[in-house]
Amino acid sequence: MSVIYLDNNATTAVAPEVLEEMAPYLRDLYGNPSSMHTFGGQVRRKIEEARARVAALIGADPDEIVFTSCGTESDNTAVMSAVETYPHRRHVVTTRVEHPAVLNFARHLARKGFRVTYLPVDSLGRLDMDALSEALDDETAVVSIMYANNETGVIFPVRRIGGLLRERGILFHTDAVQAVGKVPINVKDLPVDMLSLSGHKLHAPKGVGALYVRKGTRFHPYIIGGHQERGRRAGTENVASIIGLGKACELAMQALERESSYVGTLRDRLEQALLQLCPDAMVNGDTGNRLPNTTNISFQYVEGEAILLRLDEHGICASSGSACTSGSLQPSHVLRAMGVPFTAIHGSVRFSLSRYNTEAEIERVIEIVPAVIKELRELSPYGRNGLGQG
Ligand SMILES: *Cc1c(COP(=O)(O)O)cnc(C)c1O
Repeated sequence: MSVIYLDNNATTAVAPEVLEEMAPYLRDLYGNPSSMHTFGGQVRRKIEEARARVAALIGADPDEIVFTSCGTESDNTAVMSAVETYPHRRHVVTTRVEHPAVLNFARHLARKGFRVTYLPVDSLGRLDMDALSEALDDETAVVSIMYANNETGVIFPVRRIGGLLRERGILFHTDAVQAVGKVPINVKDLPVDMLSLSGHKLHAPKGVGALYVRKGTRFHPYIIGGHQERGRRAGTENVASIIGLGKACELAMQALERESSYVGTLRDRLEQALLQLCPDAMVNGDTGNRLPNTTNISFQYVEGEAILLRLDEHGICASSGSACTSGSLQPSHVLRAMGVPFTAIHGSVRFSLSRYNTEAEIERVIEIVPAVIKELRELSPYGRNGLGQG
């Protein structure tokens, strides 16, 4: 059975072009980019090409790009760098809907004695800008707010947030792991100081990421050791994956507009059909301001996990809550922060698409999902007319 993969916010397929670009550096060109000899030097040049490609996708200068081991490391590094370089500032601001890479790092800092403000969102997942403004004070070292939410796709007003923080002279980091390659980003006219991205969310391999650090931003490395990345991130480079990330960024840049409109059309078709065919279904998040590839739908009075198991039997991959929190029975912290009702949180499913999905796949999902929901509702102990109602 072939797989219909609609879980691209969890991870993506490595693009064939990316794999091809990487292969020589796993096979023959194994030199250390730090070596003096020509054999290593050719690897160094290829890494610099990758750096330029990553930079180009977000409008940065190549020397503003630091390669890391993943999105999580980029996020941790950014927040840690801010608190290291402003040691007298003991306050960090973030939101209640961040990825665990930021949220749990903030909690870690809170246990170390930092003051942390977790900003609320409204029922559509939108940030409360007044709460942000009120949270800031002379002790605030950094504000870390995601560019786009991984569970709902909701896009945050990064330009407005950054504008406010510039006025107040406070560092701004944005976790743009879900946004890079899906929506146009240009740091030249975006007031952010640091921005995280991750390879495996845009068709590069897992285990490579990057952190954009605006020129002039005070920076402290998180991984300390050798002089790689001009002292900003020690450790011998993950050469092949960095090269893959560069290629993936080049591909994303070439096709961004075309792909986002293609993927958006498929997503809209899927969403509209499911809302129409499944009673008591609703979309979570601000549909007017979302990533083009994501829809988070609550099928009330059914368990998301049960839906996923049934879909899995049909080869359909989706996710309930976020992949990072599933495996525990914790309901999604994002949907809770939005005040989504209990029965709707438990019946939530995220479908996240990519350039590799086809119309035929989406039509097949539109056939299967409503049948699965109907079947589960008939079995459900709190079916439509049972306990869950009201
Ligand atoms: C996936 C993801 C991360 C973590 O990236 P990794 O490369 O898996 O560590 C961070 N933030 C967001 C929004 C993500 O979706």
